Amino acid sequence: MVDAGVARPQCGVTVWIPGCNSHFMSLTKYQDKRDFKRTPEPKGGSQPKNSAKELSFVVQKHQASHLHYDFRLEWKGVLLSWAVPKGPSLDPSVKRLAMPVEDHPLEYGGFEGVIPEGEYGGGTVMVWDRGFWSPEVPDVDEALRTGQLKFSLYGAKLHGSWALVRTAIGGSPRTKWLLVKHRDGYASTDDITVEKPRSVVSKKLLVDIAKANGGDTTKAAKGDPLTKAPVRRRA
Ligand code: MN
Repeated sequence: MVDAGVARPQCGVTVWIPGCNSHFMSLTKYQDKRDFKRTPEPKGGSQPKNSAKELSFVVQKHQASHLHYDFRLEWKGVLLSWAVPKGPSLDPSVKRLAMPVEDHPLEYGGFEGVIPEGEYGGGTVMVWDRGFWSPEVPDVDEALRTGQLKFSLYGAKLHGSWALVRTAIGGSPRTKWLLVKHRDGYASTDDITVEKPRSVVSKKLLVDIAKANGGDTTKAAKGDPLTKAPVRRRA
């Protein structure tokens, strides 16, 4: 996979590059952080299907110690992953912080449930959106290296053209990225995280997922939008 004569950046040495693990088809970092006897998360490592032509994406809403949205793009047999504290915004003038995290196995895209408290990422996970993505750049690896990945999303909630852009902070081992919506017919000032808070798989809110899986419902409910007082209350 290495082109002779082309200088490759060193993974994890000076700049953290999403997809570095996938260049070696390794999920070591993901697996080292988790005890699979204790967490229901998938271990990964099964061979990706060669027949799948489309690249999947998933956004998982995760109420751990802090609420965030894990934004994951399938690339080279793994899910490249960024943690987006405020979630995606459809407004092109709003740039959302996206912290790169370790590559996840493809099977992780189907995970919705509860990670036990005390385990890595302990809390409730929802499949908030999923679908397919396509690059808007000729070379995805090059775009990841230069920190300018443009792509289209074909999800249930997220559509159209987007970008992940690395911010120019020299020397930081965990450089920040920004998730930005491009101006197109899918751009909007509506807050999609508030308007569409439910799982695309189960239609549940975080509190319902926690309840169904023996999780902490009080903690999970903090990630759900505030609801109005019940209307059908009888005297
Ligand atoms: Mn997470």
